[in-house]
Amino acid sequence: MRIAGQVSLDDIPNICPLLSRAVNPQYGEKGTRVVDVAGVRFGGEQAVVIGGPCAVESHAQTVGLARAVKRAGAVMLRGGAYKPRTSPHDFQGSGLEGLCILSVAREETGLPIVTEVMDPRMVGEVARVADMLQIGSRNMHNYSLLAEVGRVGKPILLKRGMSASLCEWLGAAEYIAKQGNLNIVLCERGIRGFPSGEYSRYVLDLNVIPAAKMLTFLPIVVDPSHATGVSAMVEPASRAALEMGSHGLLIEVADYTFGEPKCDGLQAIDAATLARIVEFARARREEPEVRSQKTVAAAANLPRHRREVRSQESEVSSLPT
Ligand code: PEP
Ligand code: MN
Repeated sequence: MRIAGQVSLDDIPNICPLLSRAVNPQYGEKGTRVVDVAGVRFGGEQAVVIGGPCAVESHAQTVGLARAVKRAGAVMLRGGAYKPRTSPHDFQGSGLEGLCILSVAREETGLPIVTEVMDPRMVGEVARVADMLQIGSRNMHNYSLLAEVGRVGKPILLKRGMSASLCEWLGAAEYIAKQGNLNIVLCERGIRGFPSGEYSRYVLDLNVIPAAKMLTFLPIVVDPSHATGVSAMVEPASRAALEMGSHGLLIEVADYTFGEPKCDGLQAIDAATLARIVEFARARREEPEVRSQKTVAAAANLPRHRREVRSQESEVSSLPT
């Protein structure tokens, strides 16, 4: 039986001609597009560990945590200036002031920043500060926001919608790519399943990592913080994600000397735990012979729809999946 609107993974080459591995043979069976964020290479030879608070709350808290995250060995800072909260009466983030604090934290530590943008009207403002724009789970289906961040040209961290299929997630990435921006990193952050909320916040779908890698050349990372919602689960979930082939981790960190976090404190880890995760990630460094083949397809072999984005072609690394 055929049903209107139903798609399957076999449709990915049609849904995602710009991002599908099948339609872009220059990436081969295992090649990954390296997404460079101010020198941090997603999909390169080393897994990328990003740490920082759920929300930017104050100068002291964010700069203090940025320093701790750097000392722990993480290479990027996360922190939301705009927060998508369940209740409109809860803390919504510190907005423009939060963006200023993030830029101070970058100056102090040199860590590139990833922060969420929720509103198409704010994309320019957020992109002035952010090295990488985060599209949150709740906005993965916001097609006008996806097009807007695609136009602005900064690398994008695209979280998976909490109830999104892989087809829908890759389709969302294609909306960004269609605007000429292929610098997209996918982020699995847990999906709704029947035990969600019983012993963990969401269900961490590690199987999607190899599945996504089969279908697209985009790098993929995991957010074990939102996926589990339990700080004690974050370290083992991080290790499991790396074992399943994740190109990196996005982790929430807190330090209670700056006060209790205004959101997501129960899933935040301390800097010492982050340091252990970084150590584990570094120990998994890929062997030189299996990494980094600088490749780009001959222009003549590219299908028509690829020509428009050819100028965006960059480095491809070949990592075992
Ligand atoms: C976040 O990373 O701060 C966040 C809100 O995550 P998600 O969109 O995955 O819920
Ligand atoms: Mn959070």
